[in-house]
Amino acid sequence: MKSTMSDDALRTNLDAIATKVTDEERIWAYEALLLLRHERVTALGALADLVRRRKHPDGVVTYNIDRNINYTNVCNAFCSFCAFYRLPKHEEGYVQSVESIEQKIRETYEAGGNQILLQGGHNPKLEIGYYEELFGRLKQSFPDLWLHALSPPEIVHVCKVSRLDLPGTIRRLRAAGLDSIPGGGAEILVDRVRKQLAKNKCSADEWLAVMEEAHRQGLRSTATMMFGHVETLEDRVEHLARLRDLQDRTGGFTAFIGWTYQVENTALGGEEVTSAEYLRMLAVARVFLDNFDNVQASWVTQGPKMGAASLAFGVNDMGSTMLEENVVSAAGTVHDMDERAIVAAIRDAGFTPKRRDMTYTRLREPAFA
Ligand code: SF4
Repeated sequence: MKSTMSDDALRTNLDAIATKVTDEERIWAYEALLLLRHERVTALGALADLVRRRKHPDGVVTYNIDRNINYTNVCNAFCSFCAFYRLPKHEEGYVQSVESIEQKIRETYEAGGNQILLQGGHNPKLEIGYYEELFGRLKQSFPDLWLHALSPPEIVHVCKVSRLDLPGTIRRLRAAGLDSIPGGGAEILVDRVRKQLAKNKCSADEWLAVMEEAHRQGLRSTATMMFGHVETLEDRVEHLARLRDLQDRTGGFTAFIGWTYQVENTALGGEEVTSAEYLRMLAVARVFLDNFDNVQASWVTQGPKMGAASLAFGVNDMGSTMLEENVVSAAGTVHDMDERAIVAAIRDAGFTPKRRDMTYTRLREPAFA
């Protein structure tokens, strides 16, 4: 959209925003929108890099070894951007057995990790007892396992099918072994957009309420954003503003992870946004989310090369090895990076790789040169 400002006035405004960032002043939502809409991608990269260096002056880029396990693909949320789910009673629907999940965890330990990202569809048959039993069994078999599990929409779904309130549900999941919460299912935290994307998914307020309650109970979580579908630039900035407000209140988010909508095999269809658009969005997020320490690359959607390039746009974390990934790959995007490849990409980009855990505590140097 063309600005109503003259080119000179626009340049003056953009320069004033850059000065605020340089002076460590918080920028307003309308300023983030101006940056997103008008600033050159190289200038955005420079600003985001400045903020990254301020927060991580030692030039370390972290990564994690974990495995993504989808315990069920049965779902009645009807997200039009999702190629992964199957409706209840569909012949390809599944709920993984505990034994099969345990086998995947064993393989994760063999690869050097003790953390899993456990997520699934909104399966109407799975009430809270299922999760309590599953988490309990997994913790019994693997006492030092870190369970990063159940995004906010899944937790809202568990509340509904179990007829429980939110604080009680989180308390019970936590008592059963839940260690932290993935920020999935945020998409864009604007209800007009959410209604267009998913008929049965939780509202923006509900997503934020889950995170606020989880943080209040001492669980950390990530925050995500999936963009490049039906949202406007204003919607993207509103999304960031809602995350920043909650982070001001709780400080419970460990990281921001943004990725672009993947088109293939989805009911929604359309076109994917460009790599430049991905980088612009990441950079503006890094600058606007001044109370987030970590911004993560999404090489799973963007590919290893863009993942490495994003390190110049405010990113300080390469995400995880994703020993298994089923959701993005169902939408036609398949990228692989093992620990060696992640470490090489970080070093090639001029940074020092360090492994971390889910709380972003640094663990050790990589085992290989
Ligand atoms: S994105 Fe998640 S909630 Fe939506 S349809 Fe797919 S599995 Fe279900």
